[in-house]
Order: sequence, then C-alpha cells, then structure tokens
Amino acid sequence: MTNPLLADWTTPFALAPFDAISDEDFAPALEQALAAHRAEIDAIAADPADPSFANTVEALEAAGTALDKVLSVFFTVAGADSNPQREALQRDFSPRLAAHFSEISANKALFWRLAALWEQRDTLDLTAEQARVLMLTHRNFLRAGAALEGDAEQRIKAIKSRLATLGTEFTQNLLADERDWFMELSEADLEGLPGFVVSAARAAGAEKQAKGPVITLSRSLIVPFLQFSPRRDLREKAYRAWAARGANGGKTDNRGIAAEILKLRAERAQLLGYENFAAYKLDTEMAKTPANVRELLLAVWEPAKARALADGAVLEAMLRADGIAGPLEPWDWRYYAEKRRKAEHDLDEAALKPFLQLDRMIEAAFTCAHRLFGLDFAPLDVPLYHPDCRAWEVTRDGAHVAVFIGDYFARGSKRSGAWCSAMRSQAKFPEVQAPVVINVCNFAKGDPALLSYDDARTLFHEFGHALHQMLSDVTYESVSGTSVARDFVELPSQLYEHWLEVPEVLGEFATHVETGEAMPKPMLDKVLEAANFDQGFQTVEYVASALVDLEFHDGPAPADPMQKQAEVLEAIGMPHAIGMRHATPHFAHVFSGDGYSSGYYSYMWSEVMDADAFEAFEEAGSAFDRDRARALEANILSTGGSRDAAELYIAFRGRLPGVEALLKGRGLVAA
Ligand SMILES: [Zn+2]
Repeated sequence: MTNPLLADWTTPFALAPFDAISDEDFAPALEQALAAHRAEIDAIAADPADPSFANTVEALEAAGTALDKVLSVFFTVAGADSNPQREALQRDFSPRLAAHFSEISANKALFWRLAALWEQRDTLDLTAEQARVLMLTHRNFLRAGAALEGDAEQRIKAIKSRLATLGTEFTQNLLADERDWFMELSEADLEGLPGFVVSAARAAGAEKQAKGPVITLSRSLIVPFLQFSPRRDLREKAYRAWAARGANGGKTDNRGIAAEILKLRAERAQLLGYENFAAYKLDTEMAKTPANVRELLLAVWEPAKARALADGAVLEAMLRADGIAGPLEPWDWRYYAEKRRKAEHDLDEAALKPFLQLDRMIEAAFTCAHRLFGLDFAPLDVPLYHPDCRAWEVTRDGAHVAVFIGDYFARGSKRSGAWCSAMRSQAKFPEVQAPVVINVCNFAKGDPALLSYDDARTLFHEFGHALHQMLSDVTYESVSGTSVARDFVELPSQLYEHWLEVPEVLGEFATHVETGEAMPKPMLDKVLEAANFDQGFQTVEYVASALVDLEFHDGPAPADPMQKQAEVLEAIGMPHAIGMRHATPHFAHVFSGDGYSSGYYSYMWSEVMDADAFEAFEEAGSAFDRDRARALEANILSTGGSRDAAELYIAFRGRLPGVEALLKGRGLVAA
C-alpha cells in the first residue's frame, strides 16, 4: 500500500488526508522523500547539457514535492498537536534535515551551474521574477560558502559547526539558570497580588516541589510579580536574579560564549567577503546596511527616552509619596507604572471579555478582508488533524483562492504562541497550486469562547500573515507568500492589526455575548488608549537591546561584550531605572542561533512600515479605501519575494517610510 503522505491526494482541494495518516507513516515517508529529493538534485547537478534556467533553476524549484508534502503535514501536527511519538520523530528529523539541506548547498557541481547562469544573466532573456529567483538562489549558495575552496572551505565548515554548538550551549545555560532559581513566598508575601498571579505562583511552587507558592524567572510570572507586589525588597531580589540570567559565574555563564560567538561570526563574514557580520546579515534585508538600521533606531531613541524620563519622574514622585528615598530603580518601574495605569486608564478586563467573542472576531477579520480585497469565506467540512480545527474555502467572485484553516484553542499538545504557516504555498510552476494556509493560536476554550483584547489582536495579526500567503500571485514557490526579507515579513501582519482598531469594526463585531449590545463608547475609548500606555519604557528597553545587537556585529568583534554593552548604553544615555529588554548573557534572539543576530531591530523596522502604510488609508479618508487596498494587494500582498522589498514599498506608498507615524502610533509625539 502506498504511504498516504506520498500518495496522490485526491481529497477536496488536494488537502492532506489527515484521516488516513498515522504517526507510523512519517518516518518511512521522510526516508523516501529525502531519497527522491537527493536523486533529483543529483540529476540536476550531473545534467550533461549546458546549464539553462530551465534545467537548473526551474528544475530546483520543481524538485522536492514529496518532501514538501511530508514536512508540511509533519510540522503542522508536531507544532499544534504533538505527542511523545511525534516529539521523538522531531528529534530524529531535525539533524537529518539540516544535514540534507547543507549537503545541497555544498554541492559544487550544482553551484557552478548556478554561477555560470549568474554570469550570463543578462543574455538569458529572463522575466523580472526569473531574474530575481536566479539571484536569490545563487546568493543562497554563495552565503552558505559554496564558492569557497580549500582551507577557507574547511574553516567555514568548522565555524558553522562550532557556532551551532555554542548556540545550543547558550540556550541550555539560560534554561538552567531559569530553572534553578526560584523565590519562596510566605502567605503574607502574597498580599497585593491579583488572583491570577497567586494561582500561577502556587502552581509554580507545586511544580518545584516547594513548601508554598514561588516566583520563578519565567517572564509570564516574574513580570506580573514586579508589576503588582508592594514588597520592594522582594521585587529587588527577583529583579536582580532575572537580570543576572546567564551571568552567574560557574559553568552556566554565557559571557565567554557570547564573546566566542561574536568572534566566529566576524571571521565567517570576512571569509564570505563582507566587511563584518552586520554587513553580511543585512545584505539580504530591506534595511541593507548597518547605517540604515542605526539611523532608524536613533530616530526613535531620542523621543522614546524623553518620554521615558518624563514618565520616570512621575513614577519617582509616587515612590517618594510611599516614603521611599533614593532614586527609582529598575525593580520599581513596573510596580509604579501599574499603579499609575490603574489610576489613569483602568480597563476592567473582566467587563471587556464578554464583548470579544472568538466567532465574532473571526467574522470581523473575514469581513475586513471582504471589504478590502473582495474575499468570501465559506465553511468547509473536511477531515483535519484535531476536532478543534475549522476550515473555510476562500473565494473571490466565485473563483477558488485558497483554503484557510483556523486552529484557535490552547491544549497541552500545542506549543505556546501563535503562528501562521502555509501547508501548501501558492505557485504556478511547474503547475498551478492554490495555497492552503493555517493560523494556530492558544486561546482559552469556552462556550462561547471569549478573547482578551490582546488575543483579538493576535487573531488579526496571524490573519494578516495568512492574507500574505493567500493573495500571493507569483510563478515560483521559492518567492511565494511570506518568503520575503525578515524585516519585511511582519508588515502584512502588523498592518492588519490596525483594522481591529478601526472604531466601526469593534463597533460592529464587539457585541455582548448575552445581550448582543455593542461595546459602550467609554470602554471602546479606553481599549484604544490603553495600547499607548508606558510606551516610553517599552521602546527604551527594546531599542537599547537592538542597538547593542547592532554594535556587536558592526565592526571588529568586541573582546569583552559586557564592556561593549556598557559603552553602548553609556553613549546613548540609558535611563537608570530601565534595564535592557534582553541583556547580553541572556539575549537568546542574538546568541541562541543566527535568526535575529544583527536583526533584533527588525520588529521596529516592520512597525515603522505598518504605521506608515496604514496612514496611507487614513490619508485617503477611509480604512477601507478600495484604491489603497488594490495598491496594497498589487505591490505587497501578492508579490511575495518576487521583487526587492524597498522597491515594493515605494511602489505602494510612493516613498520609503519615515518614523513619524510610528512615533505618533506609540504616543511618543503629539498626534
Ligand atoms: Zn507575525
């Protein structure tokens, strides 16, 4: 019998036949799919014909279909509905997949075919998209070191392998420090903490087998503790332990690892012909150069710092009113900010919740997509991997566009967070394939399910990513949907969040679960205002981390990263009462892997764009302006990575974004 993962999927819309697939199918299917892909790659590399776009680049695009099918199903269930068997498979698959893909990028014969095509690119008569796919494919090989020979080739291999080891050690040390530290609380110490913090502290205590409730270094527990505990001595103790993660001396200390990582990255970048690691990393991003990133961060830094210092003065006065001398300290900020928030913007989450029904918010996201892009959504009855999943057929003017799957509820088998992935990406080569896109969230189940405002924003965010996949209209899969630069990929998702904030959207869809009445105006105003609260603090802690990350990688590697960090903070005038969001010894974004190294700025880069892009609709006088929506689809949502990101943005907006809309959006300048 054919393995159901590898068989032709004759299901509606060729969806994966989840009801026919069992966990025993994954390992043999992966085996076969890897072998098939390897054979395809070998055949392309060994082709006796001269390299052509068709026999090399298009052949690479067409290869790996079986592998895509197996991995799309496997990673969907491994992330959203795991079990011990799937976890074991994942541990087994990860290193094998890494080895498989690095074997391809180290294939010299294949690389020389691409290099030959790249040399002749101007005579190949390629379409703009084909030229772009050739450039990207060739560049990926170059950046993986495919052009290096001899000692340099060996050295880059050794560096990559050492960096992988160091990244894992960094993560494990951090986890060990987070796991080992906890602070026991007496019943009296619980005073002033809200119920959800008390129950989380008790649950953590039970897990640590402590005598009573404890505070751990998990962000979801320590942050509310710092926010609500009136006990300044306990806040200080907890904060100091939190800030010291990865810098406690002994064998879990990450400072030496950080220094070695920075040194190896610099060497790697130089072997690949770049001046330094930041130049190497940013070359493929929309930002392109370290100077552009620095300019953006500093443009945001000054107004954010001014706001934070003004807020800090208010909080310090509150500290004095509590009879405490001395300056406001980092363990005081969240506590007094929370007191101030309560006094100025008190928003009762419990009263808000009945107005935010999951089903109504899904309807709101769909309706906005209908008004903007003419999309319609009809429920589909198809077998999926879990009974909580729902599917819709997405059409436009009656024509099929995509299948959208929503898997919204939290459960033990799902990893935390929220994400969007394409189980099948849009493409027209080698044949037309319509996208199958899934949003996975972790909302609390209920009957009916009710959301917090943050949840509703997450729902819109992930749906924005889904639109980027579903509206994709390119030829080649490698540039389809969200296959764009990292500092561009959050634009569609963060932009879509703005439609939740359009008063008429909440007005129509935020209706009370029992009475059906619309959310009262004062509540709606408070919801919208609360989003800007304490943005000086949040922007400062973020930008400080982003600048340190940038300066670590732009220039020679610092021998002592902690000293370099201190110099950067000194130079920008870091406020005394605010810590970095992530200090070096626990900056996992930067040191656990390469993902966000010299790239932590990209969250703010995207936010600059989404604020500026939404302003285009405001300037047109309506959040649902059809011309702007058409321009957004034509230049950003349908184009994937088929064109350069900056070029796409300019095509949509007529210019590159400035920081003004972001500063207004964060309330850092007067609107
Ligand atoms: Zn996102």
